Amino acid sequence: WAKADGKARWTLFDPERNAHRVTRQALASGLRPAVERGEFVLDYQPLVELAGGRPHGVEALVRWRHPQFGLLTPNRFIGLAEEDGSIVQLGRWVLRTACRQARRWQLDHPGVPPLFVSVNVAVRQVWDSDLVADVAQILEETGLPAELLQLELTESAVMGSAGRPLRALRALSDMGVRIAIDDFGTGYSNLAYLSRLPVSALKLDGSFVRGFQYETQTQTQPQTQTQTQYEPQTQPQAQTQYETQGDTRHETQRAARHETQCEARHEGAPSESGGAPTDPADAVIVEALVQLAHRLGLTVTAECVETAQQAERLRRIGCDAGQGWLYSRPVPAERIAELLASGRGTCQADTEGSGFGN
Ligand code: C2E
Ligand code: MG
Ligand code: MG
Ligand code: MG
Repeated sequence: WAKADGKARWTLFDPERNAHRVTRQALASGLRPAVERGEFVLDYQPLVELAGGRPHGVEALVRWRHPQFGLLTPNRFIGLAEEDGSIVQLGRWVLRTACRQARRWQLDHPGVPPLFVSVNVAVRQVWDSDLVADVAQILEETGLPAELLQLELTESAVMGSAGRPLRALRALSDMGVRIAIDDFGTGYSNLAYLSRLPVSALKLDGSFVRGFQYETQTQTQPQTQTQTQYEPQTQPQAQTQYETQGDTRHETQRAARHETQCEARHEGAPSESGGAPTDPADAVIVEALVQLAHRLGLTVTAECVETAQQAERLRRIGCDAGQGWLYSRPVPAERIAELLASGRGTCQADTEGSGFGN
């Protein structure tokens, strides 16, 4: 591209850019062997019913323990894996690992309602691989009931899906696997179209939830919120323990996410008190979306729920479930096992903003 655009030529000599490109290449070429070498790990983040505060599922989120670059979040490598097709192999590994883990939890904790596992699926897995056969085989091999598996696809993966993707969605749905639309609201958001697909859940993109910090009528915001925006006000106890076990991965993840997850959809003018922008239109749209989704038989899970106020408002407008730092960051499987073993199986989304372990 540098050749094609004279103005960009200088970037060839920009050491930072060059380093970035080298890293990209290093990462891309290492993807395939890394799957075989077992360098990927899954963390799990609870999905919590807003009415009652009980976790009913977990989302599996992949990380790469890179021997050279340390622990990498998916934003660093999923795009590359999609480009070179290694996502198919990686995706299969994620699916198998997540299903095996969910089955393990189910067997180890017969006394509590089983958690379903929600797995992200890339577009190419639907188009370039036999996703249906893979899922069928993995369910068979792991013994996980199909009802305990949810697949998350983005709108762009299913919009305009005729032929192969539609047949795949139908077959998966017939097997009892649930299909959720991830990051809902960031694409075309054609609900009428989605409702005709075998889709049963929407995951409302975090950019909508950002505007949910405060009541729409309340345009002024406490100054302190500016600093705490990305932090739950009270760290869940379990999480604190985890982070003090010498595992600093979540700090790295947070830095990466800060730029990429839950960004507001539009900057808007900061409120007069200098707090984060709050858009009343977001609240109106989300409320309407939730109502419409329910009438179309879809459940709604909100992403990036970071504060108790957001959870409470989402609950009041009828949103079914939430996921976010308020409840728990993504954690290793053992932490989910501890949650199940504690017998509580609940996270209290109370007004103090406390999460697990309280
Ligand atoms: P996603 O599927 O929308 O997952 C939610 C992301 O939001 C995760 O980032 C999660 O850690 C982050 N998050 C959760 N709660 C909060 C919160 O309260 N505040 C903030 N700021 N962020 C929160 P993560 O783990 O970095 O993953 C990023 C994306 O990478 C995912 O977005 C998904 O699109 C993709 N991804 C992750 N694992 C896989 C995978 O196994 N396969 C594929 N194809 N994509 C994956
Ligand atoms: Mg997802
Ligand atoms: Mg999402
Ligand atoms: Mg998202």
